[in-house]
Amino acid sequence: MNISIIGAGVSGLAAGCYLQMSGFQSKIFERHTSYGGLCTSWKKGEYTFESGFQWLLGSGPANPFYQLWSELLDMKAIPFITHESRMDIEVRHTQSLKGEKVFRLYTNINKLRDYLIETSPEDQLVIEKLIRSLRQMQSYEIPPMIKKVPKLLPLKEKIKYIRFLPLLCFLNRVKKETNYTFARKLKSPFLREAFELLFDGDELPLMIVTMPLAYNDLQAAGYPIGGASLFVSRLKDKYLSLGGQIRYNSTVRKVLLKNDRATGIQLENGEEIQSDIVISAADWHFTVFQALNGLYVNKTIRDLGSQERLKVYYSLFIVSLGIRRTFEGESHFLRFPLDQDLVSPDSTSYSRLEAHVYNYDPTLAPQGKTVVSVSFYTRNADFWITLRETDRVRYNKIKNEFAEEIIDIMEKKFGRIKEFIDEADVATPATLYSYTNNWKGSAQGWLPGKNLIARSPVEYTLPGLKNFYYTGHWCIPGGGLPVAIKSARDVVQIICYDTKQGFGIDQ
Ligand SMILES: Cc1cc2nc3c(=O)[nH]c(=O)nc-3n(C[C@H](O)[C@H](O)[C@H](O)COP(=O)(O)OP(=O)(O)OC[C@H]3O[C@@H](n4cnc5c(N)ncnc54)[C@H](O)[C@@H]3O)c2cc1C
Repeated sequence: MNISIIGAGVSGLAAGCYLQMSGFQSKIFERHTSYGGLCTSWKKGEYTFESGFQWLLGSGPANPFYQLWSELLDMKAIPFITHESRMDIEVRHTQSLKGEKVFRLYTNINKLRDYLIETSPEDQLVIEKLIRSLRQMQSYEIPPMIKKVPKLLPLKEKIKYIRFLPLLCFLNRVKKETNYTFARKLKSPFLREAFELLFDGDELPLMIVTMPLAYNDLQAAGYPIGGASLFVSRLKDKYLSLGGQIRYNSTVRKVLLKNDRATGIQLENGEEIQSDIVISAADWHFTVFQALNGLYVNKTIRDLGSQERLKVYYSLFIVSLGIRRTFEGESHFLRFPLDQDLVSPDSTSYSRLEAHVYNYDPTLAPQGKTVVSVSFYTRNADFWITLRETDRVRYNKIKNEFAEEIIDIMEKKFGRIKEFIDEADVATPATLYSYTNNWKGSAQGWLPGKNLIARSPVEYTLPGLKNFYYTGHWCIPGGGLPVAIKSARDVVQIICYDTKQGFGIDQ
């Protein structure tokens, strides 16, 4: 049985691996000249610029995603590092009892506890409660639905889920806490300001930060040395070693249909490729509304398409610099306030800036040199996408002018930047969109809603359409690499079930 996969991102490659392991013959069609999708880095001169990959959930055995990654990769051979601090936040209005302006979110939970209590002894009770919930997060056994698709489980298996009730109750309780509600419980103005700035001023569920923190502490949410490209190249090699094939420069235009069954794909050049099953691991909006012409939708899908049900995740404007100097002692990830608000050409106003100093990965720059990047989140990707499509000269001009402004700010903050720049690169939301086709240049699919543990409204199949499956980071709000691999694995299990073939992995 042969299967066409659209897209060689992490999800497409993972789906391909699981298919090959389960006895199917698959071929991936990728529009770009290379694999990886959003999980990428690129070379400029002596430097490798990272797309922004910071952490992999399941980098160590304490998190169940480790088992999934290990099915496809030799995880023991990948060196991961856990930063001492997940991020450092420079506050504007307050200071700690010691007169410090920078809040450090330590990844070691004991260290975090001691630091927070030392910073504000009068908040000890609230802090102890936070630490207890982090420890509790670590202690729960994660339900097997990470590995098994709930709808494929027999009733007697589902009944066993009752033992996960305490976890569900715990999640139900903590999901309501946001960084703002937590900040309001604190007496220390410094800690209050820092927690309010955890998401650069936005109010989001605190669990978005505490959950990875719990696994950082257990060495299970680390950064792979070599960055995104090296990590994803291992996945590509695995797929090819299993007999899978990738065709680059092959943009899929349509999914071919006959009697409400997918029968193959049509490429931009008109070429048609027949297959028994089609999997799309490409952008969700493109898949549903262009490749399938919006023919297989229901109210939920229409509401997703109009962003009434969920909002699209932020896109990014990233300035990457290859700098001829070291940054000893500098934070690897610092958010700091600006002297005056910076208004981006897309009209988003920023009062703070986020700088990444990749001084911990020696593979990205030669000795004595460093890659530094600055990223800005935006919801107005359309501005950049339209401008790039309609007026490339103006697009280049204003993105470079904006980048210059950012370099000036970096110069003021860190010193010795401008005259030491060897290489510079500017990626806008239009870059993310043009390289990966993600709707509105989204970095991680959908933005999580308030209810983090609610069932995702995105399905792996579409109503009324047979022999077609969907996988990728759009499948569960919040996206990211864990969703990319889990959705791929789920989809292949469902295909195995539908075609009465054994799944290639012992569970
Ligand atoms: C700056 C940044 C930092 C991030 N940091 C992290 C992190 O630290 N940890 C984490 O877990 N996640 C992180 N993410 C998110 C993570 O990279 C993505 O969620 C994940 O890579 C998505 O994988 P995917 O395979 O689902 O989709 P994609 O990566 O979007 O892959 C889709 C593929 O399909 C191809 N394609 C699209 N349309 C077509 C077509 N018509 N024909 C053929 N091919 C097509 C694309 O070219 C692409 O290769 C980050 C993302 C960004 C942008």
